[in-house]
Amino acid sequence: MSNLNRRTFLKTSVLGAAGAFVGNRLIGAEKLSPASMGRKQGSVIRRKLGNTGIELPIVSFGVMRADNPALIPAAIEAGYEHFDTAHVYQNGNNEKMLGEVLKDYPRDSFTIATKVPPEEKDKKTGHLLSGSTKKAFLEKLDISLKRLKMDYVDILYAHSISSRQAVGFEPILDALQTAKKQGKVRHIGLSTHRNEHEVIDEAIKVGVHEVILTAYNFKQDHRDKIKDAIARASQAGIGIVGMKNMSGGSMGKDSERSMNFSAALKWVLNDPHVHTNIPGIINFQQLKENFAAMENIDLTREDKEFLYAASMEEGIYCNGCETCVPSCRKDLPIADMMRAYMYAYGYREMKKAREVLDEHRITDNPCSDCSVCTVSCVKGFDVPGRLADIGRMGRIPHDFLV
Ligand code: SF4
Ligand code: SF4
Repeated sequence: MSNLNRRTFLKTSVLGAAGAFVGNRLIGAEKLSPASMGRKQGSVIRRKLGNTGIELPIVSFGVMRADNPALIPAAIEAGYEHFDTAHVYQNGNNEKMLGEVLKDYPRDSFTIATKVPPEEKDKKTGHLLSGSTKKAFLEKLDISLKRLKMDYVDILYAHSISSRQAVGFEPILDALQTAKKQGKVRHIGLSTHRNEHEVIDEAIKVGVHEVILTAYNFKQDHRDKIKDAIARASQAGIGIVGMKNMSGGSMGKDSERSMNFSAALKWVLNDPHVHTNIPGIINFQQLKENFAAMENIDLTREDKEFLYAASMEEGIYCNGCETCVPSCRKDLPIADMMRAYMYAYGYREMKKAREVLDEHRITDNPCSDCSVCTVSCVKGFDVPGRLADIGRMGRIPHDFLV
């Protein structure tokens, strides 16, 4: 749909279409129109998503933690065009929420991405195992399309790829290509939040993936390696989408420093090889703040001071490098538990934190019977302390978690 048609449609239809679904929560949508926020026409920075032919505003909408459907029409009204979800988010309810809202919009007026996880993965190496079949992957895609009430998605990612082996794993590559041939997806790719630079370089070599969604933020110790790999992929024509831009959502449980979300987002947006970003949005305030970064990515003096000071602190974001794992006397899944810790103390997402603990059957402090810790973290995290903090959550009844 051309920009002009999109605007005309939004002007005449968006309020009616969304109003039927969200009732009085639509008030937020009216307040976020570009005109009411003083946006000048043509001021949004847009970038081409590699060779896909898709062009997007540099800020998109990470829907993962959003559960208020009124945010979606408000976002469209404000100028967001791209929505990112996944098969597993909120046990499928995230895709259902999007499907319910977006069914009232012309299919070509938005870009949607979802992610399907390969079935079986070695937790230590990240390698995909024989249970990750083409059939299982395509069945999950069909479920996702049904939830989204769509015939196709614009981008389909193999979810959470973390090793070179997993990038080139034939059954999943075959499933992605088959889905594209069947017209169920327009473009195929992968998402990665561990060993990102290796995964990206392998994807360039394999030559099948058209879009890569990668964790990328100013708190990653290996951010320079990711930056270089992103540049190589972008130059090879692969579309690059950034995620985890907020580096854990807070500076940590005991830090007195608040996260400067705008500075963290603008830091990523200043990399021209990142074509769009999907910061997680859960309320109208965040919608509005991220909206501002669509047209101005200049880092202010205050932003730079924050980035400088915050990069000195250990923070909450685990690199996922697993450097610590071989030295743990109990072989604990430390990186995953640090992820649970980040969900709990960074994003205040207790349910998500608990999901990770349940996956590893952690129900209490896993270090309680270990007298001396032999682990050392490259970021200086107090690993046993954090494991004790997060392990306690394993005892809390599911009903108490939000
Ligand atoms: S806890 Fe530290 S060493 Fe271990 S994976 Fe995370 S950042 Fe790497
Ligand atoms: S204290 Fe915990 S993290 Fe440290 S070595 Fe023992 S089990 Fe591993």
